[in-house]
Amino acid sequence: MIKFLDLHKINIQYEDELKDVANRVIDSGWYLMGKQLKTFEQNYAAFCNVEFALGVANGLDALRLIFKGYIELGIMKKGDEVIVPANTYIASVLAVTDNGLVPVFVEPNLDTYNLNSDKIEYAITHKTKAILTVHLYGQNSVDYKMLEICSKFNLKLVEDSAQSHGARWDNKISGGIGDAAGHSFYPGKNLGALGDAGAVTTNDKALARTISALRNYGSEKKYENIYKGLNSRLDEIQAAFLNVKLKYIQLDIDKRRKVAEYYLNNIKNENIILPTVINEDAHVWHLFVIRTENRNGLQQYLKDNNIQTLIHYPIPIHHQQAYEEYKSLNLPITEKIHKQLLSLPIGMHLKNEDIINIVKVINKFDF
Ligand SMILES: *Cc1c(COP(=O)(O)O)cnc(C)c1O
Repeated sequence: MIKFLDLHKINIQYEDELKDVANRVIDSGWYLMGKQLKTFEQNYAAFCNVEFALGVANGLDALRLIFKGYIELGIMKKGDEVIVPANTYIASVLAVTDNGLVPVFVEPNLDTYNLNSDKIEYAITHKTKAILTVHLYGQNSVDYKMLEICSKFNLKLVEDSAQSHGARWDNKISGGIGDAAGHSFYPGKNLGALGDAGAVTTNDKALARTISALRNYGSEKKYENIYKGLNSRLDEIQAAFLNVKLKYIQLDIDKRRKVAEYYLNNIKNENIILPTVINEDAHVWHLFVIRTENRNGLQQYLKDNNIQTLIHYPIPIHHQQAYEEYKSLNLPITEKIHKQLLSLPIGMHLKNEDIINIVKVINKFDF
């Protein structure tokens, strides 16, 4: 079986280093808010070319804390609206609604699956305070039009960088393109911890300071609480693992780009729509997503040929039970693509022969 993802194979590449740092954290007797976190925050801020990186418990919390921070700073208030792509992972939207903000769903581009900035302006009202743009599948989602809209309507641009570590656009790096960004280091992400972890990046000093307190019970000084905060800290052991894995992220990106290039050049089946790349630096290929009318048939056929695929994502957010208040929204592009998307294996765990085999099998599929 060619696996979609193989976390053991990925992490075992760094076995000695990971075990070494784990031992050091165990021996240190210090497990939260220590040296490992500080080092990771410095390393990750440098990697994203931003002033501040704050480690938090996971990617959802990173996004939640950004909006909570803006609320504490008086920049947003409950009932304000946030533009979100209709086809994102549910975490993006949970971060908005958890803060009492209202998501306004905008359809994606049919070629990149990222927010269509030509459709944003129609969705703006006097309550709109932010655009939450998601670099879906690892491809930068910001364009000049989006930046213009943000400055024209005085909106914060929040990046969901959970899938796009290291993607570049306009001399900036994912996480440093907008006003603030949420990152996930869920084990399956391109930069993955060995458990849950996340980070906020920003150049906004006031926001960074607020979130730094919010993640730790709203406290800057022990037992003195400025805000009604959360407990959303990044463990020392996960920070230590991330310090190791961050050193090798470029190898992971290079491998993903090679696999993607091979797929793009060699998958030749008229019933399959391949992903569109705006520019190579702007895509880090967290996922390689194709689209086809007979998606379920193709997925079964690949499974029968020992190739595991996944669907990102099978049910749009406005059709989820959790968001039934949005079930009557009319989002035809989002609804259509959720029935057609299929993610092929991509990443460090694949051997050349796996990739060649995947392409051969796909090219033989008779729709
Ligand atoms: C993974 C992911 C998140 C959430 O990250 P967690 O670390 O799992 O909480 C948010 N947004 C997107 C687009 C993601 O892919």
